[in-house]
Amino acid sequence: MAPPLTVAVIGAGVAGLATARALKVEGHRVIVYEKSNRLGGTWVYNPRVESDPLSLDPNREIVHSSLYQSLCTNLPRQLMGFSDYPFNTRKYGDLRTFPGHEEVLEFLNEFASEFGLVELIRFETEVVRVDRADLRSDKWVVESRSGKSTELGSEEVFDAVVVCNGHHTQPRVADFPGMEKWPGKQLHSHNYRVPEPFQDQAIIVVVIGDGLSAKDISLEISKVAKEVHLSSRSPNIKISKLEYGDNMWQHSEIDHVDENGEVAFKDGASIHADTILHCTGFKYDFPFLKTEGIVAVDDNRVGPLYKHIFPPELAPSLSFVGLTYFPAPHVFLKIDLQAKWIAHVLSGKASLPSEEEMLADVQEYYQTMAEKGIPKHHTHSLHYEFEFSDWLAAQVGLGVDEQARLMHRSYYKFVSDNGFWRSREWQPGYVLQEEEL
Ligand code: FAD
Repeated sequence: MAPPLTVAVIGAGVAGLATARALKVEGHRVIVYEKSNRLGGTWVYNPRVESDPLSLDPNREIVHSSLYQSLCTNLPRQLMGFSDYPFNTRKYGDLRTFPGHEEVLEFLNEFASEFGLVELIRFETEVVRVDRADLRSDKWVVESRSGKSTELGSEEVFDAVVVCNGHHTQPRVADFPGMEKWPGKQLHSHNYRVPEPFQDQAIIVVVIGDGLSAKDISLEISKVAKEVHLSSRSPNIKISKLEYGDNMWQHSEIDHVDENGEVAFKDGASIHADTILHCTGFKYDFPFLKTEGIVAVDDNRVGPLYKHIFPPELAPSLSFVGLTYFPAPHVFLKIDLQAKWIAHVLSGKASLPSEEEMLADVQEYYQTMAEKGIPKHHTHSLHYEFEFSDWLAAQVGLGVDEQARLMHRSYYKFVSDNGFWRSREWQPGYVLQEEEL
């Protein structure tokens, strides 16, 4: 086994905590840098929003979390834990299938305390630069700034760096003709917290997107505003009235907007709206990372990365956790397996292919995406794929979690049968046909 390494982990959200635990178990010496004063990342609800509601101003003060106050998880509590540290067996007093965000944060705090991770975290310490110590070595310099100081802070050298800075903070904004001159209010879901600002029986809101946040937020706003119109660029969307509220409509994507406040949809409908809410997702961003283009973000593809984790040319001393999204299997489990694999690779328990082989694997993945017509910006979207997590589990000597897999299938069958509109009737035994088992 290789000797223990010094490892810097950037961020103390789910990914940073899981990574710190996995590295600690392997005997590595870990420092977790966390720019805020709390652990939990996204799950630390912040009532503040950014000064620029679309988050386009590069000089704005960034608020990390995109949670809205009423947010409940989009996965049932049975699928919100780590494989060896389940969520649903813990008792927090909330019996709902989809727990509120406060409960997830409590769970993460308990996880961190139980595994002795809190003492590894340097709070209020923002990493401002991660750079190779010199081009011939695998070591990394991490430069950080503490507290509110604007002066550059200390530099420390590490054998490895694991990037866990999250990817739900830098909004992606929709683009449509006339957007700049449209007189109404526009904001991104990153800056949505509560429905009160929409509480006016005259207000008409257009919500762009068809993800879970778009659905959640539009339903919440529909209870206080006059009308909510969802706009989706998914193919085959036709104008329709939604059954979830008397005042909700589904439209195709926006065709253009006018200076007089009109919003015209490609389905031919046109309305006079007051607000456009962009629930259009987020961008990967690593402002501190200096790799001279070895790892780059191109149309929201972070690459090249072997299995979404290791850049072949810089592996294994640089790695990323939590870039993949979409929930199968659940987020926490997938993150935990990624963290464990990195820890195993760094201690020599698992080995990586050669740089050339890793690059070839990445190219093959890109090629398959292109052949299937999957756009580049969906590179890290592993839609309902269990193969990746099964593969990761095998790398670290773990078996497939059949229980979680069944639960997942049952839950997504329920969603596809009933739609995702905060229905709370799902139970783990929701019927699966034999061919779905
Ligand atoms: P984060 O939680 O974002 O943590 C990153 C951490 O890095 C933060 O603490 C941040 O302060 C720190 N950081 C960033 N940059 C620096 C720096 N330069 N220096 C030091 N520290 C830094 N997942 C689910 O499983 N179930 C759900 O129901 C669910 N709902 C969601 C709803 C919303 C609205 C959003 C936005 C996400 C949701 N997710 C859900 C996904 C969620 O992002 C993951 O569960 C998880 O929080 C990701 O963890 P992370 O550690 O990768 O990132």
